[in-house]
Amino acid sequence: MQLIEVDVLVAGGGPAGSTISTLLSRKGYRVTVLEKDEHPRFHIGESLLPCNMPILEELGVMDQLRDMGVVKLGADFAMATDESWRTYYFCKSYNKTPPNAYEVRRSEFDEMLFRNATKNGVDTRERVKMTKVEWDASGHTTAEAVDRDGNKLVFKARYFVDATGRDTFVSKKLDIKKKNPNHASAAIFGHFKGVVRRPGADQGNISIYWFDHGWMWMIPLKDDVMSVGAVCWPDYLKTRTGSTEDFLWDTLKLAPKAFERMKDAELISEVRATGNYSYTSEKMTGKGWIMVGDAFAFIDPVFSSGVYLAMNSSRMAAGIVEKILRDRSQEARLHAEYESRIRRGIGTFSWFIYRFTSPAMRWLFMNPRNVFRLEEAVVSMLAGDVFDSKEVHQRFAVLRFIYAIRAAAELPEFVRNVLLRRRNAKTIFKGVTTAEGQPDTLGFKNR
Ligand SMILES: Cc1cc2nc3c(=O)[nH]c(=O)nc-3n(C[C@H](O)[C@H](O)[C@H](O)COP(=O)(O)OP(=O)(O)OC[C@H]3O[C@@H](n4cnc5c(N)ncnc54)[C@H](O)[C@@H]3O)c2cc1C
Repeated sequence: MQLIEVDVLVAGGGPAGSTISTLLSRKGYRVTVLEKDEHPRFHIGESLLPCNMPILEELGVMDQLRDMGVVKLGADFAMATDESWRTYYFCKSYNKTPPNAYEVRRSEFDEMLFRNATKNGVDTRERVKMTKVEWDASGHTTAEAVDRDGNKLVFKARYFVDATGRDTFVSKKLDIKKKNPNHASAAIFGHFKGVVRRPGADQGNISIYWFDHGWMWMIPLKDDVMSVGAVCWPDYLKTRTGSTEDFLWDTLKLAPKAFERMKDAELISEVRATGNYSYTSEKMTGKGWIMVGDAFAFIDPVFSSGVYLAMNSSRMAAGIVEKILRDRSQEARLHAEYESRIRRGIGTFSWFIYRFTSPAMRWLFMNPRNVFRLEEAVVSMLAGDVFDSKEVHQRFAVLRFIYAIRAAAELPEFVRNVLLRRRNAKTIFKGVTTAEGQPDTLGFKNR
């Protein structure tokens, strides 16, 4: 057994873990990151947001990102049966956030961030799985892990960061993980070649299609590869009888205008699925520890917010951990500030997410008006600007009002959608929220 003493121990070497470890190492702390897999490894979540660009700049990886990514100028939304689509361009955001983001293969992106952490002095360890963590009364951590050869490692740390993503290590350990009672959906996806892209400069934009059972994404990646996936109500996914691959093709056919773009497409990857993924944790912090990224919560991928929320929470947490390590008496106050900011950002996205498949929200997205700069505020949300801007939040309040009027005008449809959402949340509720790699209640292997 080996004993290793560090200032900060981070479990999980995804975007959240790599970001916080890099920033703390740069401040002179001894930081170790444990990653149970080996990079490059597959991960879903390929579309980035403009508000993430300054963080990537700060980490010093923008040149590599430009080489590996496809430029994303905006997001387009369409009905499954309509010829036309509506594009929201990031350059039209309320607060002039960066005008573009990138679409990336997560295997490359996550490896880049992880290796960058190593370059910045972090002790990065792959194929080392964290197995146990405990805190003493003063908040100091003792943790155990197992390396690739089955050796047990023991770590003593002044502070612990949970960045284990959907594995939610601490949340499970403390039994504080909660399935989201307001939302449930699951996804099925694969990589294809030969899918028609949007024309000209728009060829890197993400496309989102509404269809009867949820919504679909198309994310253009390098080398003519398109990531295509469907996020569906669990009730629909339960109707699957054949193979996951056949089920994906059959599902895509249910959105004729999306499928038209796929008439010459060839599936070039395994078809993967993930279910039961909407959850949150009762707490985000405790004496001597903090959660970042998906380790705390994940709602839904529709606005491509996951990686940004993960890296942004890590950036905020880095500042907080640094202050706590200098003066532990400030910990409770700093934790409370962190929790309230993160919940605010997630809450803003959630309001749009929960209503995304409702007719009223479809109408709002397909008929944008820039009266009182409302359209710019929607673009700001799509760019990730959900934390600090008072003006943007004022416009969201107006959007809520317009949404309510529209929903009231279409009351039967609105009620039908609410009931559908509740029924599906219950369907998932009966199941167990599983970690990556384990089969979920829908019979899919969770990825
Ligand atoms: C269907 C779907 C589509 C999505 N699409 C998008 C999108 O387009 N854009 C977007 O921004 N986000 C998207 N997301 C969300 C995005 O994937 C996540 O929000 C993001 O990866 C969170 O980063 P993270 O670092 O918190 O967690 P992760 O990226 O999951 O990293 C966690 C790491 O911790 C490691 N780990 C876990 N347990 C242990 C342990 N015990 N010991 C050591 N290591 C451990 C894991 O191996 C993993 O590498 C999508 C999610 C889903 C489900």
